Amino acid sequence: MPEKGSLGWSIPDTSDWASLPDRIAAYRAGYLAEDRRLLEKALRAGTIMGLATTNALELGVDVSGLDAVLIAGWPGTRASLWQQAGRAGRDGRDALAVLIARDDPLDTYLVHHPDALFGQPVEAIVLDPDNPYVLGPHLCAAAAEIPLAEDDLPVFGDTTPAVLEDLVAQGLLRKRPAGWFWTRRERATDLADIRGGGGAPIQVVESSTGRLLGSVDEPSAHTAVHTGAVYLHQGETFLVEVLDLEAGVALVCSASPDYTTFARDITDISILGTQRSHALGPGTLHFGEVEVTRQVVSYLKRRLQSGEMLGDEPLDLPPRTLRTRAVWWTLPASAVAPLAEAGIDLGGAAHAAEHASIGLLPLFATCDRWDIGGVSTELHADTGLLTVFVYDGHEGGAGFAERGYARATDWLTATREAITSCECDRGCPSCIQSPKCGNGNEPLDKRGAIHLLDTLLTQQ
Ligand SMILES: [Zn+2]
Ligand SMILES: [Zn+2]
Repeated sequence: MPEKGSLGWSIPDTSDWASLPDRIAAYRAGYLAEDRRLLEKALRAGTIMGLATTNALELGVDVSGLDAVLIAGWPGTRASLWQQAGRAGRDGRDALAVLIARDDPLDTYLVHHPDALFGQPVEAIVLDPDNPYVLGPHLCAAAAEIPLAEDDLPVFGDTTPAVLEDLVAQGLLRKRPAGWFWTRRERATDLADIRGGGGAPIQVVESSTGRLLGSVDEPSAHTAVHTGAVYLHQGETFLVEVLDLEAGVALVCSASPDYTTFARDITDISILGTQRSHALGPGTLHFGEVEVTRQVVSYLKRRLQSGEMLGDEPLDLPPRTLRTRAVWWTLPASAVAPLAEAGIDLGGAAHAAEHASIGLLPLFATCDRWDIGGVSTELHADTGLLTVFVYDGHEGGAGFAERGYARATDWLTATREAITSCECDRGCPSCIQSPKCGNGNEPLDKRGAIHLLDTLLTQQ
């Protein structure tokens, strides 16, 4: 960053302007490690003046002393917000950190309730240590350091014996009289992905040169680098020629299409077991285990400038199933019938309430809206009722839905407030529309969502 005495941008003289595009760059976790180190170095040296980055720059990277940090949208937690803002400032000089509210229900809520941000402690980390998908890799890593003894087990929680048995059956650990031993040559720590990224990443390769551009985590590959997708890399545009999931590669070629692509998926959810339930207004709130099946079925092409729809191209991708935990609420027919009679589209109302509640859950659970998903339906096969589900997007669950269950009244009240305080007429990205909706934000009924939440939150 350019040197200067006080706060404010130093405007380069105009003869310099032509060089400016080369002095800004993009940064994300999927870039090659050596490319990332070069970018960090250039930022520190001041050869790069501005870096557009994901939260990849938030942790574990030595960058500080920036003049200004512009945070595009609520980063999900107060801990992240202060961490990101802290990249600005050096030597007791003034610095600038700006939070730019996004079109998102949570950002809308925070703009109206800054007290939820300032003067609040950094939130407790939500994690579910009993989740076998979390615990298993950690037990392996512990055993690789020092074989696990019987006495160690209580430290890891009640589910440890069952998870150990499973790890032995998988051949990852071996049980001997002295304890449990790590059996593999590779490092056990490679099993544990602390950021919860999922399976092996897909490599993005330029087909004409063999150049490796970066990687995309496996769960995101279906939506981000499916065959035909437009893929951006450092300001360059590529088209995905083919996504080969088995080979773990997406082949791309340089292109300049006049459209963007947006993957559409269908999601099914079935209830495997209910662990807890209680009455909520005339309805019922549940927490339990679910199986979510998602399949990316097609992608939309939209013209760059106008957003005009250019077509819906089918895709042939396998469904992905996720066994996880969810919080869900139901309303009996007697409670929703009056709403239907008043002309409310129940499906659209439930869908809108689902989107907004996903948007607000990060306020109560330490997560990002991309860590959770939802399904809503006027009539669900397992409940026989109008049902709205919000589920953890991580295998085995991550504790977010459970937090939502514990704080449901506050959570759903904040959801209702975020919808009512939005100035739009029929719903917008700041309240009920979702950037990740697999249904293209159809149908949605804003007024209906408020009535539905009012009904649910009525004291009985
Ligand atoms: Zn709105
Ligand atoms: Zn949706």
